[in-house]
Amino acid sequence: MLRALLRPTALAVLLATAAVAQTIPTPDDFAGFPIGSDGNLLRWERIVEYFGILDRESDRVLVREMGKTHNGNPFILATISSPENMARLDAIQATQKRIAYPKGLTEEEIEGIAENSPAVVLVSCNIHATEIGASQMAVEIAHRLATDESAWTRRILDNVVFLLIPSFNPDGQVMVTDWNNRVRGTEHVWASLPYLYHPYIGHDNNRDAYMMTQPESRYGNRILFQEWFPQVYVDEHQQGNSGMRVFVPPFANPINPNVDPAIWAQAGKIGFAMYQALHEAGIEGVGYDQRYTGWWQGGFLRGAWFHNIVGMLTEVASANLASPVFQEKAELGKRRASSGRTSWYDEREKNPEAPMPPPTDVMPRYDYPRPWLGGKWTLRHIIDSELAITTALLESAADQRRRLIRSQIQMGLDAIAAGKQGDPWACLFHPEQHDPEALYRLLEVLEYCGVIVERAEAEFRAEGRNWPKGTYVIRMAQPFRAYAKDLLEPQDHPDPGMMPPGKMADQPYDSTAWTLPLQMGVETVVANKPFEAELERLGSIPAPAGKWNGKGKAGTLIAAGPNRLATLINRLHREGAAPFLLRKRAKGAPAGSLYVGAEQPAQLEQWVRELGLSATAVDKTPGAAAKLEPVRVALYRPWTASMDEGWTRWLLEQYEFPFTPLFDADIRAGKLRERWDVLLLPGDRSDSQLIRGADRASTPEEYRGGLGEEGRRAIREFVAQGGRLVVWHDGVEFAQKTFELPLRNALRATPRSQFSCPGCFLRVQVDREHPIGFGMEPEATAVFDDDAAFEPLPAFSYVDFDVVARYPSDDLLQSGWMRGEAHLSQLIAAAQVEYRRGSVVLIAFRPQFRAQPHGTFKLLFNAIHTAGFTMER
Ligand SMILES: [Zn+2]
Repeated sequence: MLRALLRPTALAVLLATAAVAQTIPTPDDFAGFPIGSDGNLLRWERIVEYFGILDRESDRVLVREMGKTHNGNPFILATISSPENMARLDAIQATQKRIAYPKGLTEEEIEGIAENSPAVVLVSCNIHATEIGASQMAVEIAHRLATDESAWTRRILDNVVFLLIPSFNPDGQVMVTDWNNRVRGTEHVWASLPYLYHPYIGHDNNRDAYMMTQPESRYGNRILFQEWFPQVYVDEHQQGNSGMRVFVPPFANPINPNVDPAIWAQAGKIGFAMYQALHEAGIEGVGYDQRYTGWWQGGFLRGAWFHNIVGMLTEVASANLASPVFQEKAELGKRRASSGRTSWYDEREKNPEAPMPPPTDVMPRYDYPRPWLGGKWTLRHIIDSELAITTALLESAADQRRRLIRSQIQMGLDAIAAGKQGDPWACLFHPEQHDPEALYRLLEVLEYCGVIVERAEAEFRAEGRNWPKGTYVIRMAQPFRAYAKDLLEPQDHPDPGMMPPGKMADQPYDSTAWTLPLQMGVETVVANKPFEAELERLGSIPAPAGKWNGKGKAGTLIAAGPNRLATLINRLHREGAAPFLLRKRAKGAPAGSLYVGAEQPAQLEQWVRELGLSATAVDKTPGAAAKLEPVRVALYRPWTASMDEGWTRWLLEQYEFPFTPLFDADIRAGKLRERWDVLLLPGDRSDSQLIRGADRASTPEEYRGGLGEEGRRAIREFVAQGGRLVVWHDGVEFAQKTFELPLRNALRATPRSQFSCPGCFLRVQVDREHPIGFGMEPEATAVFDDDAAFEPLPAFSYVDFDVVARYPSDDLLQSGWMRGEAHLSQLIAAAQVEYRRGSVVLIAFRPQFRAQPHGTFKLLFNAIHTAGFTMER
């Protein structure tokens, strides 16, 4: 859109749009096939091309590239509104910021804003790339809004600024489209994508919302919390394909008490408008108030709740990518007896059109009035459902424009008032922390998402102690108080027993804990009462600067503690330097501190400074130092899309570990010890998943089969010959079956009714004198996700293994929800077991879970590096 041509007369607008409609092809003409037809998908570069046409040819559409993805695809945002609104976008954006930060607005100003501003609505599509329908719907809705001359469309455009992210995951859109094009119409049509649908993190990309490790996450949150602060944000997903066709809000119990209830009121209202539109479009099987809860923090639309934005989730039943699925019919209100057929999963291998068993949820009720009864379901059905959802959203926002804006302002004002009341009044962060990078990242992710972070310009007193200049303070009297509070305080998940019967699921939907200071190992103090301090608001958080205190006669000692010490070790090894680690505490430095002799790479000082490390000069060689040889690291990558593998790969790259991915064939070929010193297994694969891999007939030959027993033997031989295997979470099971370990997982036989812990935070005690615990705090937070806990087998004594970390005897739960805490008391959380000439490191939980728990990264980093103490080749 050319901004210079705006503000034409009404007649000119009419003439211009009439001309425009001819130059913009319909999506079907552009694609060369009907959008949504069986088997067909528009690939990302074509979608971008189409939006480029709309941008050029329509004065209602502006398309902007937010930046590139990992694979170099453009991440785009389309802004769609009336030409009049498009001409004053900057002013609208400025008003949106004022609405989001409403401090000091008078009633008159509020009324003026509400009266004169359009509602801003954001829709994002396709974050989970196999949920492909919305990326196609985006083209159709944009075409309609750009070309339609009806009164309905004009009213929408006049009253709404519509922001559209056609794909939140363009790299994945490309991968899924290519896979679809390969398997459609073949015997492979039911084969799963053999790799993640994102270069690193697959389905977890939505779980990256608050930590923002990936570029797409940054683009999304920038649109939401820096640039636009929309009144409503809808993230359009797809769900499984056998039951409910469409979920729209209201959300299910429990709800998060930090979220302003006005969010639930608005989400319910718009959700019911969506429901009605779906009903009118003849779409059956629409449900609400089930499965998807209002409690969890961790996805983009959920993060919106805590920013006074009406975040909404919609879920439409999936087809088989772009190919249709068939389902046997059920009768309303009657559950069919099992037909005694063999599994549908086996049947569809022979006949891709074999129908699924009929739906079982067929009883009409208030929250599911017209149950889905089976039949054919196609990509076109998905797109039609999403069009109904999106148009209902736009209509609701246009109708309720004034109320939505007023409500958002009120939520911000109420949050500021609540913060002034105290309890909590502020969170304080001492500038000196165990790991300066963790503090920096914690503050940076909050600040990026609109939280006001301040720094003390002078010493002050609070909570009965003195705080130095440079202390960071997050005061709660701010519009996004809920976001800061929710991410800084421990989570207290509602007890199902406190709810009326049937009002809450027995198990939480996802993780139940996300407290940033705990998982990142950052110390914070909560001030419940006001205090006086000279505070300055920071535009951005300064990265930690390292401390260089020269080089002594014998060289330099660099303190253990920061995770970035691992990066320094990797850089020294890369330069051919031979650093040493202190095996015991010496010269006031903890075990695990790094000693570099007088012959040093010229860049050492610069590295120490840029990595935020702390170096002191030493004149005598520390006695307890042991040489650390570089190790050759391999990371196993299964052909079954492992997110844990992706996260591990991403983290290793961030800390500059050199490593090589190994696939099934590489491992099955054996002779691993000749090439590798350390082998890492992703933690989200059970023993049988590792051994069998993808083994259905529909899997293309080159991806079939896993490690096999051959691979197990090769790994056993690798360790026997002096290699180190590092496993965590589910990988522990593989290690137990492969080696005769003196430890077993004590939780394996414990029933769920007695022990359950779906993503909570637990205290663990770490032996910092053990090489794998080097540089850690004596107490760390384990992100525990139905993980393991070891106990020694009776036949073995403690001589056979080293305990690195242990669950304490009581008071384990730090944040979130768990059942059966006593089952973990005193059990082992991490251990090193010797096996022949090598070793196996077992970590019961995931030390690098979604690259979030900075407080336990070191278990992984040390397990890799300290293998270099004794390496013989
Ligand atoms: Zn999804």
